[in-house]
Amino acid sequence: EFNEDELEQLRADAQRAYDLDRAHVFHSWSAQKQITPMVISRAEGSYVYDGEGRPFLDFSSQLVNTNIGHQHPKVVQAIKDQADVLCTINPAHANDKRSEAARLISERLPENLNHIFFTNGGADAVEHAVRMARLHTGRRKVLSRYRSYHGGTEQAINITGDPRRFRNDAGDAGVVHFFGPFLYRSEFHATTEAEETERALKHLRRTIELEGPETIAAIILESIPGTAGIMIPPKEYMQGVRALADEFGIVYIADEVMAGFGRSGKWFSFEHFDVVPDLVTFAKGVNSGYIPLGGVAISDDIYDTFADVSYPGGLTYSGHPLACASAVATINAMEDEGMVENAAHLGETVVGPRLRALAEKSSIVGEVRGAGMFWAIDLVRDKETREELAPYGGASAEMNEVVGKLKAGGILPFVNFNRLHIVPPLNITAEELNAGLDVYEKVLTEA
Ligand code: PLP
Repeated sequence: EFNEDELEQLRADAQRAYDLDRAHVFHSWSAQKQITPMVISRAEGSYVYDGEGRPFLDFSSQLVNTNIGHQHPKVVQAIKDQADVLCTINPAHANDKRSEAARLISERLPENLNHIFFTNGGADAVEHAVRMARLHTGRRKVLSRYRSYHGGTEQAINITGDPRRFRNDAGDAGVVHFFGPFLYRSEFHATTEAEETERALKHLRRTIELEGPETIAAIILESIPGTAGIMIPPKEYMQGVRALADEFGIVYIADEVMAGFGRSGKWFSFEHFDVVPDLVTFAKGVNSGYIPLGGVAISDDIYDTFADVSYPGGLTYSGHPLACASAVATINAMEDEGMVENAAHLGETVVGPRLRALAEKSSIVGEVRGAGMFWAIDLVRDKETREELAPYGGASAEMNEVVGKLKAGGILPFVNFNRLHIVPPLNITAEELNAGLDVYEKVLTEA
């Protein structure tokens, strides 16, 4: 609640922020003159406030990172406390908050993953994981699935399997893409999950054989592809990938940047499939993005490669004290407040049932899928043909209309091509969640 004076100040600040943004800020993934960025002036819990002081339920968690919601008091306090003591150090030194963050992360991973290399975010975590895999195997190629996102830096965008790669593609980056399982839009003409699994694994095996197993350093997979559509793979598929990696001596990298740290209702999303990766990349949820932070968890086997030979890589801000202090506070808050359990419970008892009922009622909801606080609504023009409401890689007037109505209903949605992703904070209350889903239900049944 803002009083009149506060509102006036808020509006003036927002106008200035907007004008200066348009004058001086260059935005990600945008045609610079065609955007009108929404000013966000404040945030708390599951809500953000725009330049008019209007509240929006943050069903995007920004870029699916504010897993503990906005302005969690314990994390804000931990950052302030750390700022009083030590803001930055050369990563060559040891530091209490970095050591503790590494311990807390390792303890939540399988027992072979005991060392953490910290980065500034997800893309550089992917860069370093790939570098480690290449040095460990002495091989060059990386296999990655279509319909994936791995980051915006040079190697990571080439590894990415979505259209944002096209205009960045180096062509010679040593990356080979393959189709993963996605029954609703099956590339294998499968009609059952068992068929999809078998054919997708056969396709991956042939890809490995025809590329030359002795040339392949790594297979990188989002355990549950996020930006590309939250397609939960069959357990047998993931176990098959692990077995293929073992058979051919390939490093298996689980990219948990989006799905990790509780998003899917487990600490890490590969846990759904009982597989143990060799390298795990993470960012976003590790500290809810309060300060930029990411990293790579490294298996003991790969660690040994660099035990007596120097690892050729580093970052000035690796293991930054403010970022690590916020990670320690975040992980402790998630544990103490049962946020992962809350996400799993509300996903199963509220989001899943409500979205499945919505799919029955709405003529434009083709499929809903997800787990925890990680759900996608796949919008179509026609339920029979499954033609997307917006083309893959593009936008459409109909999609814009849906998004406009959600915003008018007080929702800040996550949108990707023809999909709406339901990705609120893990600690959202059942009341807030239901209120938000009421808006989706109204908009999508009327559309
Ligand atoms: N990997 C995955 C699975 C992601 O979802 C993202 C970002 O959305 C990244 C990597 C890149 O992370 P960042 O934007 O922090 O560089």
